[in-house]
Amino acid sequence: MAKISIVGAGQAGLQLGVGLLERGFEVVITSNQTGEQIRNGRVTSSQCMFDRALQNERDLGLNFWEGEVPVEGIQFAVPVPGGGNALKWSARLDRPAQSIDQRLKMPRWMDAFIAAGGELRIADVGIPELEDLHKESDLVIVASGKGEIGRLFQRDETRSRFDKPQRSLALTYVHGMRAREKHTAVNFNAVPGIGEYFVFPALTLSGPCEIMVFEGIIGGPMDRWAEVKGPEEHFAESLRILREYVPDEYERSKDCVLTDDLGVLAGRFPPTIRKPILTLPSGGLALGMGDSVCLNDPVTGQGSNNASHAAAAYLAAILDHGDRPFDAAFMQDAFERYWDYARFVVEWTNGILLPPTENQQKVLAAAQHDPRVAHWFANGFNDPRTFFPVIADPQAADAFLGVAA
Ligand SMILES: Cc1cc2nc3c(=O)[nH]c(=O)nc-3n(C[C@H](O)[C@H](O)[C@H](O)COP(=O)(O)OP(=O)(O)OC[C@H]3O[C@@H](n4cnc5c(N)ncnc54)[C@H](O)[C@@H]3O)c2cc1C
Repeated sequence: MAKISIVGAGQAGLQLGVGLLERGFEVVITSNQTGEQIRNGRVTSSQCMFDRALQNERDLGLNFWEGEVPVEGIQFAVPVPGGGNALKWSARLDRPAQSIDQRLKMPRWMDAFIAAGGELRIADVGIPELEDLHKESDLVIVASGKGEIGRLFQRDETRSRFDKPQRSLALTYVHGMRAREKHTAVNFNAVPGIGEYFVFPALTLSGPCEIMVFEGIIGGPMDRWAEVKGPEEHFAESLRILREYVPDEYERSKDCVLTDDLGVLAGRFPPTIRKPILTLPSGGLALGMGDSVCLNDPVTGQGSNNASHAAAAYLAAILDHGDRPFDAAFMQDAFERYWDYARFVVEWTNGILLPPTENQQKVLAAAQHDPRVAHWFANGFNDPRTFFPVIADPQAADAFLGVAA
């Protein structure tokens, strides 16, 4: 059986690694962090995953938290200053979503990978290490997330819409938020001209929590994280934003406490699609996977879902390829299989980062009056292909809303 080396023990790398082991491949994963370092480190994501991606994990027996802290719906609101909302609707997901803190999940998955016979090495991989991996393996896959090494892959100008960060991002993990009524949900708030705020239940190291996600328009009043020093100031800034721009959410959040001092994160990055094949100085090739080659803004909560679907697509491509060598044609084909799905996620996500079109506003407003439209929209997070052509084409939207009405 072929030997496959993967760089990065995150959502994409570990899921693919475990899937390959199950099919009899020899697999080496190299991670620049031990499980303990990940567990004792800073939060990395809000990592909300929808049912199709969770099913990929169930299929591999990686669903160690099945049924815990379910996210049962999506609420969409456009808050107005002083309280209340210009628009507000919610709908249930057909099957729950879930967010497991990657500090909890990845160390557990590393253990599962080793228990299944995988070799886990700890090293920070650069070009010399990639060359070594290339010599000893039939295929090298780089799943290094936002790690530096991913920048070796050339940016794909035709597939990348932006060359600068579009949002200032922040995460605040808290305990003690007042539960929303009826069912749990991602409460997504779009504050025109300011940014987006969404919040939902998750499981962290200290038990169930809520994750606040701030997406501030660059240079705007939700982009003051650079002035913040330390976790307490980060928490206070989170509450300031809610008090001023999302008052309904402030009301249920004002008595929260941070989960832990490392339960906060702030940063920004340009959403970037890269060419999936890296040519090493020796002429050897490596294939990119997950965020390393398809990095989206988190505003639609799709990155971990994408990473999971990438791992599933690459596993299928490797199995279909049989005994033939893993050449450039194989690598491009594996990525295109994934891109056939991911391009819809990328287009939807990039669209959300721009001012909403009239068409998008019409569809979102219709959801307030028609529960079927709300249900369609909420469940589109599970498979964003279903948003198209409606969100991109006014005629398709009219036809869709006409039928739904
Ligand atoms: C603020 C924020 C909120 C988010 N919220 C969501 C959400 O709600 N839902 C969602 O689906 N997605 C969300 N995401 C995105 C999601 O977390 C990522 O898309 C996902 O984790 C990508 O998986 P990956 O396997 O590609 O990379 P990662 O999970 O980042 O894993 C990469 C691994 O590679 C390791 N590594 C890096 N460089 C090297 C190297 N040189 N050598 C060895 N190892 C290396 C890293 O340490 C890391 O462990 C969010 C992201 C952010 C920033």
